[in-house]
Amino acid sequence: MAERTSLTILIIDDEEANRYALRRILEKSGFVVLEAATGAAGLRILSETRPDLVILDVKLPDMNGFEVCQKIKADPITSVIPVLQASASFVESEKRAEGLESGADAYVTHPISARELVANVRALLRIRQAEQAAREQRELLRVTLDSIGDGVIAADPLGRVTFINPVAGALTGWTQEEGAGQLLDRVYRVVDETTGEPVEGPLTRVLRGAPGSDGNRPLLLIARDGTPRPVGQMSAPIQDDKGEFVGVVVVFRDVSERRQMENELRRRADELADRDRRKDEFLAMLAHELRNPLAPIRHAVQLLRTENTTDPIISEMGPIMERQLRNLVRLVDDLMDVSRITQGKIELCKELVELSTAVRRTVEAVRPQIEDKQHRLDVELPADPLWLEADPARLDQVLSNLLNNSSKYTQPGGQIQLSVTREDNRAVVRVRDNGIGIPEHMQRAIFDMFQQADRVPGRVSEGLGLGLTLVRTLVEMHGGSIEVQSPGRDQGSEFVVRLPILDSRIAQEKQAEALKRKAPLANPKSLRIMIVDDNVDGARSLGLLLRKEGHQIEVAHDGPAALEAAARFCPEVVLLDIGLPKGMDGYEVARRLRQLPGLKDVMLVALTGFGQEEDRQRSSEAGFQFHLVKPLDPALLRDLLLRTRPGTEEPPS
Ligand code: ADP
Repeated sequence: MAERTSLTILIIDDEEANRYALRRILEKSGFVVLEAATGAAGLRILSETRPDLVILDVKLPDMNGFEVCQKIKADPITSVIPVLQASASFVESEKRAEGLESGADAYVTHPISARELVANVRALLRIRQAEQAAREQRELLRVTLDSIGDGVIAADPLGRVTFINPVAGALTGWTQEEGAGQLLDRVYRVVDETTGEPVEGPLTRVLRGAPGSDGNRPLLLIARDGTPRPVGQMSAPIQDDKGEFVGVVVVFRDVSERRQMENELRRRADELADRDRRKDEFLAMLAHELRNPLAPIRHAVQLLRTENTTDPIISEMGPIMERQLRNLVRLVDDLMDVSRITQGKIELCKELVELSTAVRRTVEAVRPQIEDKQHRLDVELPADPLWLEADPARLDQVLSNLLNNSSKYTQPGGQIQLSVTREDNRAVVRVRDNGIGIPEHMQRAIFDMFQQADRVPGRVSEGLGLGLTLVRTLVEMHGGSIEVQSPGRDQGSEFVVRLPILDSRIAQEKQAEALKRKAPLANPKSLRIMIVDDNVDGARSLGLLLRKEGHQIEVAHDGPAALEAAARFCPEVVLLDIGLPKGMDGYEVARRLRQLPGLKDVMLVALTGFGQEEDRQRSSEAGFQFHLVKPLDPALLRDLLLRTRPGTEEPPS
């Protein structure tokens, strides 16, 4: 379709002379002119060509001009065309008024000057264009607001509703017709979902200078019929061209679905957390239950080993059983610890530790396993002592885990090096091997729970992927850090642990304090030891083992029996289980034992399956000097009995 460049004007006038005069003037000004001599002809042309403006004579032969004007304005399509009524100068003002009332946009009288006519025509066309633009804008806005998925309500500065879009209508229950003129707070009623209290309305908010959203505050829109619905809302002031405040608009959205999803997610998260908690509890229980049978087995194996036997099967099987048992105990320990980590229950029993001494002790304990695999273990320690404030058992766990891993992940005949150095106020322990190495992409992940580096085909896993998680947690609990370096597959690995060291003056003071606290035992080689444990096998096997080592042993399986036996036996050391039957737990037995004549200073060692840190805390408060976890490691007990002799720990230099 060709573009219309000039504006078209239709003249409806029965006087040819008038039409001629008007046409000349208008054509000169660049308008295209159409003519009609009767009302009917004019209306026909109008409907066919839709001119931009009509100049209409009042007196026509077939119908009068007012009637023509009314018809033009009555048709929605032609109603927007401006009509300029023209009549003879003698027409009185009554007629003019009638003309304007019939819908004419302006009125001129003949004879009319060319300038006046063109000025009038142009003014009308300008108005029409402005109206058209405004209409289009309004239409665009209406269509947009009707089609968006959000509810929109506008109100004037007095808070009277001026606009409600269909979504808002559906959510509030108020249509545009019913809601217009109502107070906004009545149409849009919102309360706080948690308290049920009405919240500040959009108008007040905006007037207070706080437009925008309510953040994450849960809101309920109460519809006209009382139905509550969760909504998210946003309010803003409406301003005119000059920035004057002319009203308020609130845009809101039904968030039921989102809320449902959030609730569902929360429910699932709670469910998962609950399952996770139950799994942790199960793991803790499992580890505990596994520990009980391990105790007598360990004692029995130990007994077999110390027995002077010539039986080749026992000589050969002994070390195997011992090694496998050690692995089993370590796995159970890891399992137990890891469940404590997840429950945030690990605490340290810190004391003064000389790092080289601790390293030597661990190395000696793991050396047989390492050498079994034909690995060479080189250890390099500093000449000067490095004092740490650490939990010796946990430090041992860290070091033996790293050494065991090196051995596990290095081919037989490989080499493992452990070195301790000092860097500023940190002790640095490096455990290096020339084993299978760790691919770079796994070097961070191996410290996470259950993470194991890519499996080497054919290699059977000997762990659960828990060791390094424990190591990292324990190192960090000591204020230290751990990192791994490996150039890649088959190029070995190096684990570097950094731990804060104590100033030697502070170390000396602590050492003096610690020595003061420890009571000497008369002869640690032969002691009167009483074992109180309701696990009959555990108590008996431990008794046998300790008797073998030269101690005198008394065994009891519950509190009352223990008290009775103690009065008679007068033990120097009591190994006392905490969970005991007959309504008297280990704490109570401990308290009563101390009240017996001659037993005020008896050495009390708590013996439990749990070994939770709060248990340690409780047992130390109840007067136990030591707290050991089942299955009791006889070497640890031996060490503990020896360590209570004064002078066995070198004072710091
Ligand atoms: P586990 O040894 O029980 O699998 P860890 O947490 O001790 O669990 O170790 C996690 C993973 O890190 C191991 O499975 C292994 O892939 C890798 N890893 C640990 N130490 C070494 C090492 N010295 N050399 C090579 N890989 C190692």
